[in-house]
Amino acid sequence: MSTESIIILGGSFAGLGAAHYALKHVVPQLPKKEGTTYNVTIVSPSKDLFWRIGGPRACVSKQLMPASKMFFPIEPAFNSYPKGSFVFIQGTATHVDSAGQTVSVTTPSGEQTQIPYAALVIATGFSTPSPLFTQATDATALQSTWDVFQKQLPSAKTVVIGGAGPVGVETAGEIAEALNGKPGFMASAPKNPKAKVTLICAEKKMLPILREAISKQAETFLKKLGADVVYNTKVVSTSPSGDGEGTKTTVTLSDGRTIEADIYIDATGVRPNTSFLPKEWLDNRNRVACNPKTLRVEAAGPRVYVVGDVGSYTRGGAIDLGDAIPVAMTNLRTDLTALISGKEAGPDRVYKANLSEQQICPIGTGKGVGAFGGHKLPSFMVWAIKGRDYMSGQLAPQILSGSSFSKEGKWTPEPVAATKAKTGLASG
Ligand SMILES: Cc1cc2nc3c(=O)[nH]c(=O)nc-3n(C[C@H](O)[C@H](O)[C@H](O)COP(=O)(O)OP(=O)(O)OC[C@H]3O[C@@H](n4cnc5c(N)ncnc54)[C@H](O)[C@@H]3O)c2cc1C
Repeated sequence: MSTESIIILGGSFAGLGAAHYALKHVVPQLPKKEGTTYNVTIVSPSKDLFWRIGGPRACVSKQLMPASKMFFPIEPAFNSYPKGSFVFIQGTATHVDSAGQTVSVTTPSGEQTQIPYAALVIATGFSTPSPLFTQATDATALQSTWDVFQKQLPSAKTVVIGGAGPVGVETAGEIAEALNGKPGFMASAPKNPKAKVTLICAEKKMLPILREAISKQAETFLKKLGADVVYNTKVVSTSPSGDGEGTKTTVTLSDGRTIEADIYIDATGVRPNTSFLPKEWLDNRNRVACNPKTLRVEAAGPRVYVVGDVGSYTRGGAIDLGDAIPVAMTNLRTDLTALISGKEAGPDRVYKANLSEQQICPIGTGKGVGAFGGHKLPSFMVWAIKGRDYMSGQLAPQILSGSSFSKEGKWTPEPVAATKAKTGLASG
């Protein structure tokens, strides 16, 4: 008896969802092949899911956001599936050979292995420029990074955050509240702020996905906590002044000003984790280029798919995965079924991006701004949904158990010719 693998690279929101979907709706429905079984294998550097959404608060305070709300072991989340159907490999993919259909993996001890795949799902996400928001190796290493940061933070008088997307805004709110305290009910700003917190916004408004009025409300809430926003300005460069304890950072802005910051946090966008993939598979932003309807990585040959923020098809975010994972995994099943049965592939499932105004952004522990499905949310709703614990208590169990994918979901088959003509995959 031989075992073939559906390999998933990445053990975060996208990778876990894809694995659950494959175990529930792909493997059980594959045609029987004499002498062969199929498993689902996740390759990821850490044994734990990192609750990245809670990063802005966890980096500031382990009392408010303890490790138990930030890291969750992956393997036990798959105990309910038949023995042998799920494999977890702690390691980092270093190369994909699409001709030989193998992935090279380096384990934490430095051992190198090559794993053959029947189908491959790339879900390696992105890294942040600040080490505070990325689990580069394991939970212990990230917690040590936070420990160092939390030692420096209380004595900081000047904090600069570059980038006014949701990560920058949330982090500014958490830091300003930690240093300057909660504002009085009617106060528009703290009376005696301990620290000057400055958020640098490259555009004329923060939070690009949200409308202007909501962005302005975010500014009001930030001001209440003692954080100011500088608009239409970029961080041009940063350099450490001095070394060792008490090192400051000189932050140079595009308007020519410099700020000597006790703490500088770079929240200016993200870097896709794709350096191990061939350049021809990537788009001009180094994301994995895919067919935006089928999520097949067409440059990579048969049975390679992408899900999550590393893919060119998405504007990112955890919510979008509810639409994307079923599409990629259904098409994977279609292609693998065609290969096993030797019959013509069935119709495709297609992805449609939900581009409605949708983002929820806590600002400190008591307030926040946001919209859902195009509707503005009041501050107390933002607090109730996300501000209390960054959804760790409510959403992490769902992601770990794969409960959002308990059903396959309804879909309308697209004619094969419309989506596969270019791929040459019509017969598997
Ligand atoms: C601070 C912060 C707050 C956020 N808040 C929200 C929010 O409130 N709501 C929301 O919708 N989105 C939020 N996001 C975005 C959200 O985190 C992403 O949409 C989500 O993490 C994407 O999941 P992913 O699985 O695609 O990628 P990632 O979460 O980046 O996971 C990628 C995984 O792949 C692994 N990996 C990387 N390289 C390799 C390799 N070579 N081999 C094997 N494995 C590899 C990584 O270790 C990781 O496990 C936030 C992001 C940040 C940084």
